[in-house]
Amino acid sequence: VKLVDLEPVFERVVEPGKKYEEVDSLDLAQGVRFECPQCGKHQVLCWFRNRGVPDSETPGPGRWEASGTGAHDLTLSPSVHLSGPGCGWHGFVRNGEITG
Ligand SMILES: [Zn+2]
Repeated sequence: VKLVDLEPVFERVVEPGKKYEEVDSLDLAQGVRFECPQCGKHQVLCWFRNRGVPDSETPGPGRWEASGTGAHDLTLSPSVHLSGPGCGWHGFVRNGEITG
């Protein structure tokens, strides 16, 4: 499945723990949110490394290295593994493609 088909939204923190805003570009983003590729019943939110996201921001503590120019060619490193209650999806986002 392609990331662009999971309604991806780039996000920035406006008020830590409270308020986020959507931004148009990966350059401006601190994270990306998209529909869960495994169950489709919830959203997956991955905050990026080295982009000023507070350590306390949830979900955590995972942070991802984001590369690419947009949702169509986004790569997240390392892989994404959802912990806690829920579907436990584990997969990869590489060059805009989701596998696993
Ligand atoms: Zn899920």
